[in-house]
Amino acid sequence: MTNLGKPPDFDAVVIGAGFAGLGMLRRLRDEDGMSVQVYETGDGVGGTWYWNRYPGARCDSESYVYCFSFSKELLQDWDWSGKYPEQPEILSYLNHVADRFDLRRNIQFNTRVTSARYLEDTSLWEVETDQGDRVTAQFLITGIGCISSGNVPDIKGLDSFQGEWYHTGSWPHEKVDFAGKRVAVIGTGSSGIQSIPVIAEQAAHLSVFQRTPQYTVPARHGTVDRKFIEEQIKPNYEAVLNKARWSAGGFPIDRDERSALEVTEAERMESFEAGWAEGGIRFLGTSFKDISMDRRANDTMSEFIRNKIREMVKDPETVEKLLPTDHPFGSKRPLIDTNYFDTYNRENVELIDIRHSPIQEITPKGIRTEDQEFEFDMIVFATGFDAMTGTYFKMDIRGRNGLSLKEKWSEGPKTYLGLQTVGFPNMFMITGPGSPSVLSNMPMSIEQHIDWIADFLQYMRRGEINSVEADENAETAWVAHVNEVAEPTMYMLADSWYLGANIPGKPRVFMPYVGGLGNYRRKCNEVADNGYEGFILDAGRR
Ligand code: NAP
Repeated sequence: MTNLGKPPDFDAVVIGAGFAGLGMLRRLRDEDGMSVQVYETGDGVGGTWYWNRYPGARCDSESYVYCFSFSKELLQDWDWSGKYPEQPEILSYLNHVADRFDLRRNIQFNTRVTSARYLEDTSLWEVETDQGDRVTAQFLITGIGCISSGNVPDIKGLDSFQGEWYHTGSWPHEKVDFAGKRVAVIGTGSSGIQSIPVIAEQAAHLSVFQRTPQYTVPARHGTVDRKFIEEQIKPNYEAVLNKARWSAGGFPIDRDERSALEVTEAERMESFEAGWAEGGIRFLGTSFKDISMDRRANDTMSEFIRNKIREMVKDPETVEKLLPTDHPFGSKRPLIDTNYFDTYNRENVELIDIRHSPIQEITPKGIRTEDQEFEFDMIVFATGFDAMTGTYFKMDIRGRNGLSLKEKWSEGPKTYLGLQTVGFPNMFMITGPGSPSVLSNMPMSIEQHIDWIADFLQYMRRGEINSVEADENAETAWVAHVNEVAEPTMYMLADSWYLGANIPGKPRVFMPYVGGLGNYRRKCNEVADNGYEGFILDAGRR
C-alpha cells in the first residue's frame, strides 16, 4: 500500500514526555503551528523523574539552572525549595509545565512505541505502538532520554529470591518500607550513593555490594538560598542562562585557568579545600583547567579525595575497600553525595567488596558471593542503565532499505552531531549519542537541540524540502571528531557506561561528545548558517 499524496496524520511524532518531549511539543505546536503527537510509556509526564523515585533521588545540577528557559514568566514564577532539586519537586515542576502550557492534550500516556518505519515512497514515518496505534508523520523525534533502560544484571537465581527486589530506575510509586528489614544495595554509582545513606537510616541492616570504589564529593545540599536567587539570579536570569548555554558543562561557573601543576602545594590544597567546602559540581567545575586532561594534575585531586575518605571513615579495613585507585577522578561520572562516606561509620551498615569476592548467585534467602552467604529481605539494584542506545534498541526503528537502527549501530552509535544518523531521514534525536547530553546540565542541552531541530524544520518548510538526511561524510567526520576529543581525556581511563563498559557485549565506544556544550552549540550554529551543511536536503515525493 502506498501513502503517496496522502497527508501524514501528524507533522511530527515525538517519543517521550520528559524534559525533551515536553519542550519539543511546546515549541513545535505553540510556536511553529505544527501538529504533534507524543507517545509516553508512563502514565504521567516526567521521563527520568517519573521513573527514578528511589530514596534520596535528586539532581546534581543546582535548581536554578535545572529548568526550561523558553518562558520568562515561568522562570520568574517557579520557586525551587532546595539548592538541588529533589525528584518529587522536579516531577511537580514538569507537571506544572504540562498543565500551564496545556501539553497533555497531545500526549498519549501508557503507550510504548514498538516500531517506526521510514516509508521511502512518501518520505514519512509510520509509527506503531503497543496500544494498536499506527500513524504517519513527516518527522520522528526521539526524546527518550540517555539513561532510561534499567540494567538488572543477569545474576543466576534472581527468580528464586523470596524477598522484594527493586531497580532504582523503575522504583514503585508507593512508599517502600525499609523499617526492620535487612537490605542489600548492589551498585555504588550516582543512584547507589544517593540511596544508600537514606536506606541506612531506615533499615535494620544494610549491606552495600561494591564492585568499583568511587570518588564522591559532598553536595552541601540544603534549602535554597533565597537571597541569592532573588537578588542575583532572578533579575539576571537571561544572562545567567546565557553563560550556562555557552559554557562547557551547561553551568554558569568559571574554571580556574591555571594548571594544578603550576601552583604551589599550599595553593593547590587551598583551592581543593575551597571547592570541597562549596561542594557539588563546583568542586570539579571551578577547579584547575587540566584536571580532566592531565593525569598528573588529576592525581593531585584524586589523592585529595582519597585523603578525605581516610579522614571520614573510621574503620581502616572499610577505608581500604572504599579507596578508588584503579581509575582517576572524573573518568566515571563524578558523584555528588550527602553523608555517603559517613554512612559506613554506622553500626548497621557493612561494605562487601565484590571486586575480590564476586556475587555467584542470588538464593531464595539472599546473595551468595565467592566466600560468604548473606540473608536479606530486600535487594536494591542500583546497577545503572544500558545508556544512550538501550532505549533505541527496544524499538524496531527502520530507515531506508529496511535498515534497522540496531544493525546500523552494531559497532557503536554513529551520528552527525548526535542529531541524525545516515539512513534514517527525517528522524531527529534529542540528546542523541555524539552530542554533549550526559556530560552537561541536561535541560541546557535539551533546549539547544529542541530549538535547533525546530529551526531546521522551519527552514525545510520554507524551502519546500520534504526530507533531510545526514551525509555519510559528515557523519564519518563527526564520529572521528567525537573520538578524537575523548581520546586524551580521563574519560578513557575507566570502565564506565559512557563507554558501554557496564553492559556485557556492548561495543566499547565513547558515546557522548566531550568537546563542551558551548563549542558544540557554535558548531551547530555554523552548520545552520551554512545552509545546514552536512545534511542532504531533498524536495522528495509526497
Ligand atoms: P551507574 O553509574 O552505572 O552505577 C552502577 C553501579 O552498579 C556501579 O557501581 C557498577 O559497578 C555497579 N554494577 C553494575 N553492574 C553490576 C554487576 N553486574 N554486579 C555488581 N555491580 C554492578 O548507574 P547509576 O548509579 O544508576 O547512574 C547512572 C547515571 O544516571 C549516572 O552516571 C548519572 O549520569 C545519572 N544519575 C544522575 C543522578 C544525579 O543527578 N544525581 C542520580 C542518579 C543517576 P562498576 O562501577 O564496577 O561498573
